[in-house]
Order: sequence, then C-alpha cells, then structure tokens
Amino acid sequence: MIDQIIKNYDFYKQKNFTELKFSYQQFIKAINTLDKKKFQINEIGKSFKDKSLYLIKTGSGKIKVFFWSQMHGNEPISTQGLFDLLGFLNYEDELNFLREKILNECTLYFFPLVNPDGAEKFIRRNAQGIDLNRDAIKQTTPEAKILNDIIDDIKPHFAFNLHDQERYYGTKNSNQPTALSFLSPSFNFEKSIDKYREKSMKLIVAISNLLQKYLPNNIAKYNDDFMPNAFGDNVQAKSISTILFEAGYIIGDENRQKVRKFYFIALLFAVIQISDALFNKYLFSEYQDIPKNIKFKFTDIILKNLSIIQNGKVFVTDVSVIKNVLNSEKFTDLCDEFLIWDIGDLSDKKSFFEINCSNLKINYKLERLQNAKKLLQFVNESLSKG
Ligand SMILES: [Zn+2]
Repeated sequence: MIDQIIKNYDFYKQKNFTELKFSYQQFIKAINTLDKKKFQINEIGKSFKDKSLYLIKTGSGKIKVFFWSQMHGNEPISTQGLFDLLGFLNYEDELNFLREKILNECTLYFFPLVNPDGAEKFIRRNAQGIDLNRDAIKQTTPEAKILNDIIDDIKPHFAFNLHDQERYYGTKNSNQPTALSFLSPSFNFEKSIDKYREKSMKLIVAISNLLQKYLPNNIAKYNDDFMPNAFGDNVQAKSISTILFEAGYIIGDENRQKVRKFYFIALLFAVIQISDALFNKYLFSEYQDIPKNIKFKFTDIILKNLSIIQNGKVFVTDVSVIKNVLNSEKFTDLCDEFLIWDIGDLSDKKSFFEINCSNLKINYKLERLQNAKKLLQFVNESLSKG
C-alpha cells in the first residue's frame, strides 16, 4: 500500500509548494485548496506581525492527533510535508477506504506554519527575535501562547512537532547525510519512559523500520536531552505521546523535495499506525537501536592535507568549511557566510565537496584563517594555476 501511495504522490502533493521556500500568499493558497466540506478551517489568532494563524480539523474519531509545523521560520519542509498529508486526505481515489478508516478512528488537528513572520524572512525566530521552541513556559510570543492554548484545549492523545534540520547531520555507519530524524522527547532530566513516551517510541520504531526500505541507513534519532523550555518536552510531560520530526538532506536534493516526499510518507504511515493501533506490536526498546543523529558529521567543504606555513614551520592538516548554518541556534542566522569550521585530523568527517590540497602550501597566519572566503579563493586560484 505504501508503494502505491509513493507512486501516486504527485496527485496528493500540495502544488503551491515547488521548492524550498514559499511565501505566505502561497501558504494561504494551499489552505484554499482544501475541500471545506471535509475540513474545518478556523483562524485562531495572529502572529506578532498580525499574520493570521489557522487551525484545520478533520475526522470524527475518538483518537485525537495534533500536528504543528514550522515554529522555526526557516524550516519549510515541515509545513510542505504536512500539507501533503492534508492533500492525501483531500483527494479521492481507490484508497478512500484508508481515508475513511483514519477519519473514523481519529480526529486530526493541524496548525501549520506556527511562525509565519520568521518564515517570511527565512529565519529561525519570530518577529520579536525569540525562538518559539524555547518559549513553551514563558509564552512571551503570541505564537507560543496560541500553540500552548490549543494543546490544552484539544488535549490530544498524540502530538507531532514538525521541524527541519541542518544538512550537516549524519550517522555513525553511513556515508550519507541524515534524510530524516525522529525524537521521542524526554519529559524530565532523568529521561524517564512512561507509557505515553513508550507509545511515541514504538511509533518511531514503526516509522524508522518502514523508511529503512526507501532510505537505508539515512534515518536517525535526535538527541533526547531534556529541554525544560521546549515544546515537545513540555507536551510529552502532559501525558501526550509526542513525536518530533526533522527533515534532513539527501545529496543533490537542494530544495529538499525528495525529503519532503518521505516526510509525508512518514506522517501518513504514523496516522495509519495510530488509527489501527498497529504500532503497539513494535518494541519500544528498539528505539535505542536507531542510530544517533550526529551533528556536523558533514561539512560543506574539506580541504584535505593542506600544508600551512606558520611562524616559519610547516604542518599538514585538514580544514573544513561550512557555507551557512540554516538552523543556527544563535541569535544571528549565519546564512550565506563561509566559516572555517574545524582544523585538524578530519578523517572521520564527511563533506559534500572535498578538495585534495596535498600539493598546496599556504602561508597563513591563524587569524587570517578566520576568513574562510579568502582561504577558499586562495585555494581555488592556486589549484587553477596548477
Ligand atoms: Zn526546528
């Protein structure tokens, strides 16, 4: 059945989204593609800069499932994948029996694009400069307050917290970047597992097993250190089985549209599993066997075996460079900047681009190495000279 859904994907996918970035107008157009007879669409408040926020509801079942996406403005695949799920539910074909089953067993609630102001500027934070996913307690932002109130109002059984991650993540045993990662957030520093967290772990095991077939070795689990002011952790603490999704990267998939497709598949599969209680057959202990998501396993460029002359001494080493930090948790998003990321033995690191610098000697002071752009220029010029 999943193969059939993958085959039919072009019918379901939200056609207002065609590349990585989309505008607020495209988002509104996407909402307007939904059949009003099938979906209740309500404005639930405004962002800090007065953009309307929407809650979409469908289904009449006992199991309440709540999804929210893109609380980080520069994480658009989360919203695109969610709209593909809406698109599947909106469509009619030979899989209507599946839609009926889902909507008879579940009531689904969607809060897409929690942070439209951040999305407009393609930055992580909202218009106040606050990270919404560190505002679960104080609720200084209107967006976090609305999100929190909806969750308390709906009291869902399952919650899906939808994000994108930097393309620099990888896993220990793979030469590929992480395509998708998942997390069952902790609800205390001890990382205890109660029956609600256990359910979310089982669901992730089910999803991960499925995706292995399509993206072997490119699925990971996200770090589950407890974050007291983050939403996922606080929602899990409310006895709601919570799952965090992170859209990663597949080499060559610059607009992340391949990742988007499997993000949708993972979401739909999770809903199928919930509607049928199928996920219960999985062992939550297998969650621990999913490989860890390792940050900065990948960088953009590695200069291999570069000879650096400094203080009249020569040493051979590797230098890694990062082009931008999409999801930087710092206040300033470092987009379109080159940064020297690391110097030293980088043989255990991967990069999207590797330059062999074995025949290259560079007379560089350490402080000048801070300027990655200049270093890359120098390497380029030297190599083209031969
Ligand atoms: Zn995020």
